[in-house]
Amino acid sequence: MHRTIGILGGMSPESTAIYYEHITREYTARYGDYGYPEILIYSVNFQRYVEWQRQGRWGEAAKAMAEALQRLRLAGADFGIIATNTMHIVFEQVQAAVGMPLLSIVDATAQAIRNRGLRTIGLLGTVVTMRERFFRDGLSRHAIEVLVPQTDAQERINGIIYGELCRGQILPQSRAAVLDVIESLRKLGAEGVVLGCTEIPLLVRPEDCGLPLFNTTILHAELALEYAVQPPEHT
Ligand code: GLU
Repeated sequence: MHRTIGILGGMSPESTAIYYEHITREYTARYGDYGYPEILIYSVNFQRYVEWQRQGRWGEAAKAMAEALQRLRLAGADFGIIATNTMHIVFEQVQAAVGMPLLSIVDATAQAIRNRGLRTIGLLGTVVTMRERFFRDGLSRHAIEVLVPQTDAQERINGIIYGELCRGQILPQSRAAVLDVIESLRKLGAEGVVLGCTEIPLLVRPEDCGLPLFNTTILHAELALEYAVQPPEHT
């Protein structure tokens, strides 16, 4: 029997839906049948998190996340994933408060970059993800050098994420703007780019760009799938 996956989602629903779709489709692509792991999704009130982020109230966010994950655990989840890069800023506090393993999106991404043998990588995401240390340090621990866009470009991308992508709006001019930022990171030496916001892959596809792109949503979903189907003796 597979492990049951608990997804802390709703940040935003646009990307939570991709986790669900990808885990189930990928299972069938790999194994041929419909015996997917069971999945519980807790979709939060995202507005509360947006306000906590704006005000830097990380302790309150961590407490709410731990409570939601505990509910998933009580409902039968064997492990959890937090379906947003930004909120991994409190990953350690939340993990310490929840009685089941959590799989980190940062670790999933670092592993994929290592597997491709890349050493210098651009990071796109929300302002919190690009500015704060948690994601960059998570990659640096794997000897990956991280480049982030200039402050004005960070603000532009952040506006696209919350103003458009989290509402399901995919606009060509925003795609062009993000591709310009990727090009500027390439000129600085980036050998690939982390799409370090779970909605950015809705806007920028591998075929749009000459650099390898690391789709954190898909990498995280696949890590969850692999852990769910892994026999316990191999963990
Ligand atoms: N989904 C986004 C991320 O991966 C941003 C939404 C949020 O959690 O604020 O960072």
